[in-house]
Amino acid sequence: MTGSIAKKINLIKQKIPQNVKLIAITKQVSIEAMKEAYETGVRDFGENRLQEALTKQQQLKLGDINWHFIGHIQKNKAKKVIENFAWIHSVDSLALAQRLNRLAAELNRVPKVFLQVKILPDPNKYGWQVTELWEDLEKLNQFNQLDIQGLMTILPLGLSPAETLNAFQATQKLAAAIQEKNYANLTMEQLSMGMSEDYPQAIAAGATMIRLGRTIFSDANS
Ligand SMILES: *Cc1c(COP(=O)(O)O)cnc(C)c1O
Repeated sequence: MTGSIAKKINLIKQKIPQNVKLIAITKQVSIEAMKEAYETGVRDFGENRLQEALTKQQQLKLGDINWHFIGHIQKNKAKKVIENFAWIHSVDSLALAQRLNRLAAELNRVPKVFLQVKILPDPNKYGWQVTELWEDLEKLNQFNQLDIQGLMTILPLGLSPAETLNAFQATQKLAAAIQEKNYANLTMEQLSMGMSEDYPQAIAAGATMIRLGRTIFSDANS
């Protein structure tokens, strides 16, 4: 239905504070639907599959979009991700961070990245456990070719609203605790958290970027 995406985006924008950036997550979303989002003023788009994203970037041909990569990055895709995305939310291991740092130097790029943390244990997700992240901070701080902006988290399914809020607050506190260590290259100014089902709690806990897919685009492709 024409206009429904614009309506949904405008409703969401009314609900979120101005300093919270809305990233439209467009995996499996059509080019037409993306254009409609663009026309309402959205300039931040997120994708989790490299090939799909590259195809859409070529089709859209819009120079003023900020592209965000949000999916797990296979080794052999890392270079293309750096070349085509200004933001990488899914840096989920020391090995990947090291590879991205090296490739970014070769490509003369400085991608803005998030460290993906599993704030609650979740065998189905990528990312650092909290204790592992603390152990790796010293090394991460040395990756000068990465502009480390903060933490990203995805919560496990099935939490109550109170548990959801708690987990996002724990993520915010972790970022603040890391900040207090004053690592030169770990700024922790952004928090990428909150999806369609849980973004109100994420914002309440201090999210600065929310990643919304279904609540904007569901039934847009039918
Ligand atoms: C798909 C996806 C989203 C958006 O999820 P919705 O529930 O559709 O809002 C956000 N973040 C990541 C990492 C995703 O893969």
